[in-house]
Formats: sequence, C-alpha cells, structure tokens
Amino acid sequence: MEFDLMGENKEAAEGDPRGKSGPIGVKMPSIPEELPILPSEVVPYPFTGVPIMVGNPKWVRMIDDVVVDRRMIAMFAIKEPSEEFDPDKIYHVGTACLIARMLKLPDGKIQMGVQGLSRIKLVEMTQIEPYPKAKIEVLKDVVEKNVELEALHKTVVANFQKFVSTAPNIPQEIAVIAMNIPEPGHLADFIATQLNLSPEERQGILEELNVTERLKKVSVFLAREQEILELGAKIQSQAKEQMNKLQREYYLREQLKAIKRELGESDDHMMEIEELRKKVEESGMPPEAKREAERELNRMERMNPDSAEYTVARTYLDWLVNLPWKVSTEDNLDILRAEKILNEDHYNLQKVKDRILDYLAVRKLKADMRGPILCFAGPPGVGKTSLGQSIARALGRKFVRISLGGVRDEAEIRGHRRTYIGALPGRIIQGIRRAGSNNPVFMLDEIDKLGADFRGDPSAALLEVLDPEQNFAFVDHYLDVPFDLSKVMFITTANTIFTIPPALLDRMEVIEIPGYTEHEKVEIAKQYLIPKQMKEHGLSEEDISFEEEAIRRIIRNYTREAGVRNLEREIGTVCRKVARRKAEGKEGKVRVKPDDLRQFLGPEKFKYELAGEKDEVGVVTGLAWTEAGGDILFIEAKSVPGKGELTLTGQLGEVMQESAQAALTYVRSYLAKTDPENKFYEKRDIHVHVPSGAIPKDGPSAGIAIATAIYSDLTGKPVRKDVGMTGEITLRGRVLPIGGVKEKVLSAHRAGLKTVILPKDNEKDLEEVPEHVRKELNFIFVEHMDEVLKTAIREEG
Ligand code: ADP
Repeated sequence: MEFDLMGENKEAAEGDPRGKSGPIGVKMPSIPEELPILPSEVVPYPFTGVPIMVGNPKWVRMIDDVVVDRRMIAMFAIKEPSEEFDPDKIYHVGTACLIARMLKLPDGKIQMGVQGLSRIKLVEMTQIEPYPKAKIEVLKDVVEKNVELEALHKTVVANFQKFVSTAPNIPQEIAVIAMNIPEPGHLADFIATQLNLSPEERQGILEELNVTERLKKVSVFLAREQEILELGAKIQSQAKEQMNKLQREYYLREQLKAIKRELGESDDHMMEIEELRKKVEESGMPPEAKREAERELNRMERMNPDSAEYTVARTYLDWLVNLPWKVSTEDNLDILRAEKILNEDHYNLQKVKDRILDYLAVRKLKADMRGPILCFAGPPGVGKTSLGQSIARALGRKFVRISLGGVRDEAEIRGHRRTYIGALPGRIIQGIRRAGSNNPVFMLDEIDKLGADFRGDPSAALLEVLDPEQNFAFVDHYLDVPFDLSKVMFITTANTIFTIPPALLDRMEVIEIPGYTEHEKVEIAKQYLIPKQMKEHGLSEEDISFEEEAIRRIIRNYTREAGVRNLEREIGTVCRKVARRKAEGKEGKVRVKPDDLRQFLGPEKFKYELAGEKDEVGVVTGLAWTEAGGDILFIEAKSVPGKGELTLTGQLGEVMQESAQAALTYVRSYLAKTDPENKFYEKRDIHVHVPSGAIPKDGPSAGIAIATAIYSDLTGKPVRKDVGMTGEITLRGRVLPIGGVKEKVLSAHRAGLKTVILPKDNEKDLEEVPEHVRKELNFIFVEHMDEVLKTAIREEG
C-alpha cells in the first residue's frame, strides 16, 4: 500500500537521486509545542529531506498516529545506541520534520521521506509510552549580515562548485541549486548534506545557530573533502602510472603505498627502503652506480618483502652502499717517519725498504702518480706479509690481504653475476669492503699459485685489476657497476716467480727476498722476534732473556727454513712456558741457555752438525732449491746383484730420472777409462734413492750428485759429507749451470757445510750471496765431472 501525503512536495523530495533533496519552497507550517520524538541515525537539516526506514513496532505505531494528525515529528540524532529509548542517549538539538511521503511495506515496516522544517531543542519529556513525546522549542538562526558573511558565502559557493566538478558521483545540478540558495544558513545546511561527514560533525553543524560560524565550519569540511578527493585522484593516477600488470594485489599495494607516502607514514619494509635510499645518497657513489641502486630500490618497493628476490636485491644494495666509494685515507708522505717505521718492523731488507721510500718520495712530488705493483718473491716466513703491513702503517693506509692460492675460477676474482643463487662479489671487492677505504695497501698472496681451468682464467681478471689503464673502472660481475681501483696500492707475493703467468709478471716489479743466513736470523730473533713474543706473552726483561747460543741452537736444531716463521714459533713456545711459570707464581728471571731448550722445546728436531758425521760410501750431500728456500738432501746409491739396470726411488720427476740415466752413462764410461776391470753393468743393478719424505723432486741439478753417489758406491770410496754440490751433468761429463744458487748456498751454509761445488758458469751468481756467508764457505767451480770427483771423493789409503 502506498499513499502520498504531500503531493505538492513530491518533486522536491525526489529531486535528488540519492534521496536527499534540495530546499523546497514550501510555506513553513507552524510547529506545535509538543511533538512525538523519533530518534534516528540520520537527521535532516531544515529545508532538506531524507529517506527513513522504520521497523520497530513502537515507531511504526507512532508514525501511524502521526500521519493521521499533523504529520510532524521531532527527530533527534542518536548519541549512543541503546535497546530502549533513553532521552539521555540522544542529542537534544534536532529537527522538526514533516513526513512527506510514506510507503508501508508488506512486512509491516515503513519507508518514508521526511522533510526538515526547523532546528528545535528538546525542552522536556512529556511522555515515554507508548512512544515518547516532548516539549520542544524552535531555534532561530542568528544572522549578522555583513561583508564577511557575504564574502564567505561567495567563496563557499565557488569552492562547492569546484568540488562538485571533481567529485565523481555528485550531479552537476547540485552546484546550480547551491548557487541559487540565497540564505547563507540554508546554503551551509545544503552543502553539509552533500559532504561525507561523521555523525558528530553533522550534529555540530546542526547545533551551530550562528550562520557565519556554520558557514565557516562547512567551508573547512568542504576544503577537507576537496583535498581527499584530489588525493584520491593523485593516488589513482600514481598507481596507474606504475601499473603495467593488471594484478589486483599489486594494484592495491601501490595504492596503499601512495596513501602511506602522503600520510608521511611507512611500515618496516618502506622504512628499510627509505633507509637504504638515504645510505645510497650518503655513500657518494658515482652516478652510474647510483642509477643502478635506484633502479633496484624502485624494484624493491614493488616486491613482497618476504620474497627471495627481495633479499637478493637487499643484499646487493647492502654491498653497494657499504663500499668505500668516497672514503680514502690520507697518505702520510713523511719519508723520515716512514723509514723509521720500516726499520722498526724489519731487520735489513734494505733493497725493499729503499724501493718503498723511493716510491714515497716520488709520490710526494707528483701526487697522481700511479703506484708500482710490487711483487715480493721469496720463501715462506721471510716477512713478505709483514712488510706489506709495515708499508701500510708507514703510509697511514689500511691493509687487506687475500690469498690467491688455488684460485681457479675467474668468478673468485670478479664475482658471480647476480642471477646466480648465493652470488657474491669477487675477492677484490670483498677486500675493498673489508678495508673500508678505496686506497688501501692490498696484498695478493701466492700469485704464483693461481690456477686456470674451464671456469675461466683468473689471471686475465687479475690483469685487469692490476692494469692502471683499466682498473679505474673495474667491473665486478656481481656489482655490475665500475669501481675505481686506481688508488689502491697492490702488492703481490710469491714463493717463486717461475709459475707466475708471464703477462702478470710483466706488470710487476719483482723484489726478491731470498731468505736469511744464520747470522741474520740471530739478529732478527734478538731485535724483533724475541721482543715481539715477550710482549705477546706479557713478559718483560725481568722475566726472561735468551743467550745468543740458545738462539743459535733453536735455529740449527729446531728449525730448518729459509725464513723465520718456525723460529718465531719456537721462541713463542719458550715464552709461553716461561709465562706459565710466572703465572704459577714462580719467582725469578729465566735465562734461556742452550741446555735448557730440551726442557722447553722437547728433543731436537734436526741434526745440524754434519761436519761431525762420518763420510760414507754412496751417500752425497746435494743442494736443492725448493719453494721454501734452499735445502740440503742426501742422495744415495747402492748396487745389488743384477744386470746393470737402474732403479730410481724417492718421488723423482722425469727430468731428474733422465739426468740420473745420464749420470750412470757417464760413470760407466769414466770407469771404462780408469778401471776397465770393473764390469758392474754385467752383474749388478744400481738403485738411486733420494730420501726426505714424500716430497716430489725434480730438475736436472742433482746430476753431478747422483753421478758422484754411483761412482762412490761402485768404487767403494767414501764421499766427503761436508761437501755440498749442485750441477747438471751431460753424458760426456760436462757440468752445466743451474738456478737458485743463492738459496742453495744459503742452505749449505745453514747446514754447516764447508765446501760447495758449483758449475763454473754460476760463479757470477755468488754476488747475490751475503759477504759473510761467502767468506765462511769454500767454493769450487767446476766445468767437468772429473773435478767434482776429485773434490768430493776421499781417496783412501
Ligand atoms: P711471509 O709472508 O714471507 O711468509 P711473514 O710476513 O708471515 O712471512 O713473516 C713471518 C714472521 O717473521 C713475521 O712475524 C715477521 O714479522 C717476521 N719477520 C720476517 N722477516 C723479518 C725481518 N727481516 N725482520 C723482522 N721480522 C721479520
């Protein structure tokens, strides 16, 4: 059943498609003093209409009563929801309304359109049951007509027009209606109905009787709505711009992000990205790197922070921002100070120190000079690493060291591409990060142990690192942006220069550190190692001292090395034992004497006194070159019944085996001349053995020693133990020059030999051997094997 109560107002009530209506030109009916009360979520303002739905039987009954009477009710907004009607839970300012239309639905509910008439105040409740009624009082608008009000009116109208033109779901006619409302109070009410206000805000406007104030309030809300509208549009367009995949999740995240950005808020994920962004700014990276970083940051914003991809991007940026793009230490170019530091740390090594001081001097005159790439070549423990540290200290630079030993993969130098799972930058960039400055002293250890295989040639990558023409823009595969390595001072180390790839060797200035003589070792121990170890173990001069003879005995009987590493370790052991004594409360200074060493270091590890040993038949003292410096080794030959065959044992390389064959042939032809009766080759086999562990040995330089051993065995004449020898042999007995003279002579000296047999052509190499060593040895330079036998074989009888 439908009926229309106020045909003349129908138009107005339906004027607004959303059910709200514009002001209507009706004559204001008079409002009685007492009215039934309808509490409501929405309360219309005067001159506007709203649709209301009523379901509760109490209110249905009230409406039923009202429509047959004046059709007028007092509507008050609900302040707090409650089951039963409670006058304290509604606002006491509301609107007197006329029921304009009503429709009774089949289920008994009523749908109606009510028209606001006037602001009213609840004065006193007069009835609660069956439905509430109250005494009311009509409230009048307070209007102060002045310029301000006029100006305000105009502005609000203009702003409202603008608002309507951008609001997506308000028809344009609404703006026209607003323009035609002459009363500022009505205008304010009308606009307020169009805005999205909270119940409190709506009520606030209802309660504002001063028209100027009401208009002001509305204008503030209008501005806010306008802003929200614009923000929404902005969010929309921002989101659209970045949206290429039509993915719902993605779209929503964009919107959320834009909203958060506008609100100046962000969650952890955004905070992290912002932090990274800040770090990118601060890191001082060059534009190319920055572009890459920003690209990655933008990508991260769009990623799910829990995804693996996000972590990869994060790790990458972490690397980028933590590289010392603009951090460099200032070089200290005070040459006297540098010299002092170098001397403080190292004994002798004058050549190296001079070279470094030269470098500093040139740097001082020409600031942008490219540093040389030094290569320290020498056996372990001669101080290559500690020299590097010292140089860094003298220059005031950071020091980093990486080992290239066993590096076969180019990616170890240059990194893996980021697309690999678990990819990381190469060792160079890792080292730079560790250094924390872009101009450290960078030591590349064991460059001679670099390998190469199917995974790419690391030496090619290293070339790029070391080449001043290229290394200002070194591209690590992982970083994928260039890093300037030109300010880094590279120092390489090697045990031998023979296995360094030639292209690399070419770029470097090799400084050889051959190893120390016993005399030097004693000095190094006294001046450097002992004080250092004492300090490390918390000992002072009052606690310990070493007799020189004790030091010498450690060198001779507890170490056999070219460097001083083991020496330092043994000294450390002694210090440790003494420190323990001290900690246990035992008083008094310990003077370390030769005879005490057994107690500190255990039984002697090496026999030194070769001179004291008896000469033997078939055993020759050979001199060998190894990567650990020179060493002596004993070559044995023994014949057993057989048919003239040669057996070789002791892990001998091919070259060495061939040279043993040559030695045998020589001995055979020599014996044919000197002892024709000796037909050993018909009834005896020869076995040559080179002991000394399972270390592979190779090279031709043992030739004369093997020949001597075979000869001694076949003739039964003993060989002088204190004669060391080295030299290649030809079939005819000529002695050819060999390498590593310096190391071999030093090892002979170390082992306490008296005489050294060297090929004549190697005489010039003796220059490199320290003077005092030369003086203590007797050198025999030979061209032919006959001379070797003459010196080394003891003719008995
Ligand atoms: P490398 O790198 O050549 O194997 P290290 O630099 O590790 O050798 O040296 C081993 C130890 O010997 C270090 O403690 C170092 O200080 C010391 N050392 C080596 N040579 C000297 C020297 N000439 N003077 C003082 N100490 C030295």
